[in-house]
Amino acid sequence: MSTPPIASFGRDYLAIPGPSVMPEAVLQAMHRAAPNIYAGELIDIAASLAPDLKRVARTDGHVAMYIGNGHAAWEAALANTIAPGDKVLVPATGRFAHGWGDMAEGLGAEVEILDFGKRTPMDMDRIAETLRADTAHKIKAILAVHVDTSTSIRNDISALRGVLDAVDHPALLMADCIASLGCDVFEMDAWGVDVMVAGCQKGLMVPPGMAFVFFNDKADAVRTAMPRVSRYWDWSPRANPQEFYMYWCGTAPTHHLYGLRTALDIIHGEGIEAVWKRHALLARAIWAACETWSDGGPLELNVAD
Ligand SMILES: *Cc1c(COP(=O)(O)O)cnc(C)c1O
Repeated sequence: MSTPPIASFGRDYLAIPGPSVMPEAVLQAMHRAAPNIYAGELIDIAASLAPDLKRVARTDGHVAMYIGNGHAAWEAALANTIAPGDKVLVPATGRFAHGWGDMAEGLGAEVEILDFGKRTPMDMDRIAETLRADTAHKIKAILAVHVDTSTSIRNDISALRGVLDAVDHPALLMADCIASLGCDVFEMDAWGVDVMVAGCQKGLMVPPGMAFVFFNDKADAVRTAMPRVSRYWDWSPRANPQEFYMYWCGTAPTHHLYGLRTALDIIHGEGIEAVWKRHALLARAIWAACETWSDGGPLELNVAD
């Protein structure tokens, strides 16, 4: 083995949206031998995750956990709520919205995309217009990305609920918080979000491998009325497991449970509101630096405001 240059001893620090930087404590919690999945502490750890995940999402609803990435969470949310032939509306402000819409199309949904480009948030008036025109209520869900990582655009999910209520449209409001959960202010219940999807590898600081679907009773009623839901994606047994294996429909993501338990302890130890404040402060510092660097230069922030 060649000797690395002296400056590269220690951990690499790669700061990208995800997989994000993992705290040392998370890595250490995962460094262990194969645990027992039939008895012992893993069972208790698994049961302790749901309430603490819901505290991050600010919901008293339900959460189903999957072994998977963000794409798995997308598919899980759709598999429980959208039947073939159902229509979904996708207000897009970046490639992740198109990705979720694409996933819906693959499951047989009719997808209407409202493309708002890559530099401005959703235009609520255009969404209201589209919903108002849908007098037959063919649109069963709105697939909205909270923060689209590909463009950095953050959308006002609470305003989207306001639009649905103002036109009295029953579509489910579904939010992709894969990038934003645990970083940016998000209030699932207060904002009237019916379904929210997230992964573990961004704001939750765990290596990729776990996906989460949060849902309320309204979304669960839609799930109950579905003509069929595939056993693997069904959120019911995962959210109400009678046996340990039901959480993940098979073997648990053993080491991830230790990592996630530690990450949630870190988040709630600091307090989610303090976490949001810290991210906002660091974001403003980065924006201020970018504005200075771009003064008269070729550099430019994607979003003007
Ligand atoms: C990362 C990301 C995804 C996709 O997650 P994967 O884990 O790569 O499948 C989806 N939506 C948003 C907003 C993301 O940031």
